[in-house]
Order: sequence, then structure tokens, then C-alpha cells
Amino acid sequence: MDSSQPAFNAAPPPSYLNQQLPQPQPCVTMSTQPGPGFHPQPVAQAQYALAPVHLGESPVRMVCPNCRNEILTNVSTEHSTRQHIIAAVMCLCGLCCCSCLPYCCDSCSLYKHSCPSCRMHIGSYCPPL
Ligand SMILES: [Zn+2]
Repeated sequence: MDSSQPAFNAAPPPSYLNQQLPQPQPCVTMSTQPGPGFHPQPVAQAQYALAPVHLGESPVRMVCPNCRNEILTNVSTEHSTRQHIIAAVMCLCGLCCCSCLPYCCDSCSLYKHSCPSCRMHIGSYCPPL
């Protein structure tokens, strides 16, 4: 009666073999038209896109996803849609003389980060109210 137990332990479950074989994720193939001097590198771009970069009101040191240089971003401020809406609402409420106040408020501006080398727009930051 005891002879059936060793035969049961000798056979490993086949499910472990399937779990140890990782399935490679298919890479996104880019259907680009290769122009003169253009070197497509979709794998490198995917790695840089995954790097968490927190843009803020000050320049950020990062690797440019376009020219791949280590850069300190250029920050320029622009009037945001939020400022236009606040100014319009103030005018509608009879506060036209105060409608320029949103444009003086830095926390309502839009901070645009760009690469100083290739001038590529990297991202924008709009501070919370
Ligand atoms: Zn760049």
C-alpha cells in the first residue's frame, strides 16, 4: 500500500515549467519612413519615456528624449487657459479693473519645459490652485 506514494512524488507538476518561460513582450514596431540622416531607435525612446521626470516651476535636469543629451530644461511661462477664464469671469462679474490680476499670478501660469540643445518641447506644468 505504501508503494504508491513514491511514484506520486516522482512526477513534478508540469505547471512550473510553463511559469519559468517568460513570454517576450512584442516591441512596438514603428512604420517610419527613413529619411536621410534619420536613425530610428524606438527601444531607446521607450526607455526614456518610462523614466519618471517631475516637471515643476524650476528647470529640471534630465535626458532629452529627442537628442539624448543630459540637459537642464529651459523653462518659459505662458498664459494658461485658466488665466483667460478667470479674467473673463471677472469681467462678466463687473470686475474689469481687476481682470489683469490673474495674469500677474505666477501660480496660474503655464510652465513649458524645452530642451536647450534641440529646442524640443518636453512638457508643461500647470501648478495646482
Ligand atoms: Zn534635446
